[in-house]
Amino acid sequence: MANAPLLAATTAFIQRAPRMLIGADWVEACDGQTMPLHNPASGEQLCQVPRATVEDVERAVLAARRAFDDSPWSRTRPRERQNLLWKLAELMQRDAQMLAQLECLNNGKSAAVAQAMDVQLSIDFLRYMAGWATKIEGSSVEVSMPLMPDAQFHSFIRREAVGVVGAIVAWNFPLLLACWKLGPALATGCTVVLKPADETPLSALKLAELVQEAGYPDGVFNVVTGTGSIAGAALTRNPLVDKLTFTGSTAVGQQIGKIAMDSMTRVTLELGGKSPTIVMADADLASAAAGAASAIFFNQGQVCCAGSRLYVQRKHFDRVVADIADIANAMKLGNGLDPSVEMGPLISARQQERVARYIELGRSSGASIACGGEAFGPGYFVKPTVIADVGQQHPLVQEEIFGPVLVAIPFDDEADALRLANDSPYGLGASIWSNDLAAVHRMIPRIKSGSVWVNCHSALDPALPFGGYKMSGVGREMGHAAIEHYTELKSVLIKL
Ligand code: NAD
Repeated sequence: MANAPLLAATTAFIQRAPRMLIGADWVEACDGQTMPLHNPASGEQLCQVPRATVEDVERAVLAARRAFDDSPWSRTRPRERQNLLWKLAELMQRDAQMLAQLECLNNGKSAAVAQAMDVQLSIDFLRYMAGWATKIEGSSVEVSMPLMPDAQFHSFIRREAVGVVGAIVAWNFPLLLACWKLGPALATGCTVVLKPADETPLSALKLAELVQEAGYPDGVFNVVTGTGSIAGAALTRNPLVDKLTFTGSTAVGQQIGKIAMDSMTRVTLELGGKSPTIVMADADLASAAAGAASAIFFNQGQVCCAGSRLYVQRKHFDRVVADIADIANAMKLGNGLDPSVEMGPLISARQQERVARYIELGRSSGASIACGGEAFGPGYFVKPTVIADVGQQHPLVQEEIFGPVLVAIPFDDEADALRLANDSPYGLGASIWSNDLAAVHRMIPRIKSGSVWVNCHSALDPALPFGGYKMSGVGREMGHAAIEHYTELKSVLIKL
């Protein structure tokens, strides 16, 4: 099939070289520096965006600070916040195809899948958060105060917006990750400075246009495009930021966490993963194989909770691995604008090389490659790859590869499966494929991860908190939990 044509609006957006939004203004970097963006399907340059300086980040934080402290936004009622978020979701629905095309061009992912998944999940999540705006509650408590036995008190606990939020996100789901932070921030009355990933700022810049169109006051949402080492670091260290929320690698998350602790800035960290897919002997093997394939190959394996470690009960190991290899071999790779394409390129030449290095490491240490194993161009493609005959302590099993590479290991019984699944520094997600209800319920509490899926994988819903155990992070996104992370509690005691 041929590539679907781009909307005129998509082409125009890219051709006009989008700027950053700081306060009310669409601006260049103050020193005029730009950075190029590339289409991962071809390696060709798409456009240039501003490379924000430390001063640009300071201006954006100041705009967010003023909007939080002094603007009409600081006095908005819950109903207005609900209506504005709903309006923003409606505008995103109107422009869903354009947002999906921007994700495809900038990230390489399928435009059709981006529209159905990334964009729709973002819209659904903002609508879900619009509902929370009117349901943020404190509480009242009766106090004892034994040292003042004759006094009377009225005491209550307020839940207040945390303030200026510095949000830094990764490139694998650019729009969705931004909305996971924007939704609870705007529902609770915070203001935001977003630093999208260096590689993928386009959908965030389009989102900023829609935020303006929805009628948010100036400074409530600001976007600075730039590098992690300059713009990201400046946002992390800015004393006017009340809360940092970061989605990215564990290594950078650790740095940000340490900086946040020095200044006691509130922080949530959504980090890396190496999630197990566990196939028990009683599972429906065909659906387990299809599920395991999609758990690792969706989004080219560039998914924080991708099922990148496959554990299959020994007697069915060969069959399940062969079934997944068949699925992988049949996948069509290509440009995400072609609706028949099932797997696009990786984000960058750097990521392609990193994934290829891991595959080579497997080969050189005697692992068997059941399928795939090759990188090719033009563009940054890696064939969907399944690797067997590796030990549990091999880097392929212990480290996050962040590409379409599955490592498969057999296990003997339930205890063995749990031991292997938990033998990882990460703890983001896990799936169990089984119809043995008792076994499944025995296993769920023993798996050390923030999400456990049964007979499905990476299935997300706005109502379900998402986040990690262990090195996969601190805090949760989505669900009621997100509201808690964007608010502070204030205890009030009135002596009558
Ligand atoms: P990364 O850590 O390199 O970059 C993430 C963001 O941090 C980017 O915007 C980058 O510019 C910025 N950054 C880099 N250095 C910085 C610094 N010193 N100070 C401040 N900001 C800095 O990660 P990546 O390669 O873009 O993303 C892939 C990683 O993200 C994977 O580990 C993946 O598992 C993780 N991820 C986690 C989740 C989750 O919800 N847990 C979701 C998506 C991706």
